[in-house]
Amino acid sequence: MPTYARLPVTFEKGAGAWLWDTDGRRYLDALSGIGVCGLGHAHPAVAAVLAQQGGTLIHTSNLYHIPQQQQLADQLIRLSGMEQAFFSNSGAEACEAAIKVARRYGHNRGITTPTIVVTEGSFHGRTLATLSATGSRKVQAGFEPLVQGFVRAKFNDIEELREIAKNSSDTVAILIEPIQGEGGINIPDKEYLSAVRELCDEYGWLMMLDEVQTGICRTGKWFAWQHSNIKPDVATLAKGLGNGFPIGACLVQGAAANVLQPGSHGSTFGGNPLACSVALTVLETMEKEQLAQHTAQQGRRICEKLKQAFADEAGVVEVRGRGLMIGVELDRPCGTLLADALAAELLISIQADKVIRLLPPLIISDEEADEIVTRLVTITTSFLSSEKAS
Ligand SMILES: *Cc1c(COP(=O)(O)O)cnc(C)c1O
Repeated sequence: MPTYARLPVTFEKGAGAWLWDTDGRRYLDALSGIGVCGLGHAHPAVAAVLAQQGGTLIHTSNLYHIPQQQQLADQLIRLSGMEQAFFSNSGAEACEAAIKVARRYGHNRGITTPTIVVTEGSFHGRTLATLSATGSRKVQAGFEPLVQGFVRAKFNDIEELREIAKNSSDTVAILIEPIQGEGGINIPDKEYLSAVRELCDEYGWLMMLDEVQTGICRTGKWFAWQHSNIKPDVATLAKGLGNGFPIGACLVQGAAANVLQPGSHGSTFGGNPLACSVALTVLETMEKEQLAQHTAQQGRRICEKLKQAFADEAGVVEVRGRGLMIGVELDRPCGTLLADALAAELLISIQADKVIRLLPPLIISDEEADEIVTRLVTITTSFLSSEKAS
């Protein structure tokens, strides 16, 4: 189905931060397949585990014990401080699991119409429940009736959450991204997440963080909540977890643990030996190569250089980022920059009409980081000046 308006390019192979198209042109990948390939393309450890596990055992189903799934859960729990994991095949499914945890948690407490607070500008996926939770009309339009049981608040507005808490006894949880990715790299105030944590504790809400984009070292920590010294009750993961092999996870702890019991949720493919072996290798490689620290460093490098380069550029409203999750907000819609970037052999995305989003592989070198800056500054400056002229 024509669900995507694709750019006119076809990639044939990759290595690290680089991709080659069918004409042999080489592109610098500053998007990583939408924040997925943190270790870059064709990483040898990932290729090796795919071949090795693929030649041993791919799938058995969750009717039986799966040691790789247990090991992956153990590793995620060690890194996150959470208690239990459910494995899915995508981010939307991980968020579906979170939504089901919140609803069952509400029912267990005698609330028959449990409500989950979600925010404006959010993105949680394309299934019916997750598109209903998503704060974008474009994602929802034409798919009504939406799933009920969500109330919407402004992102980064703790006062509005306090109002909702005072006036709604059916609210059982809040679902937010620590940094909104699809919504345009929106970073909340420093105290926001800890204020949400306090509010959740006060009212018995589950704090559910959608870390599908921010998780797995993307922001310079394993999980973005670790910048705020808090822990959620529920966290969802996907994009960076399998370096391109589909896998998602929903982690729970405290009041959210043991809410789902045998028979209450499931997945045929989720947590299979192949997916879990790949994710285990991703975590092991990131830890061995200290990619969280490297990501924080490269993120600072790119942001500083972009800020310098755009200091006198009135068309650039803001450069913002955490780790290698970076946004450059312009003062005007800039969708045509996608084609300009492609012509400059650079892969980026545009979010919320005006925000250039960079999600480079976490393994980028200093030279590659600088090359991203050079190419982006060139096309952006020329875009802004040609727009002025016209
Ligand atoms: C991409 C994304 C999703 C959806 O993940 P899929 O794997 O496409 O289903 C959910 N939440 C956030 C924050 C995302 O960035």
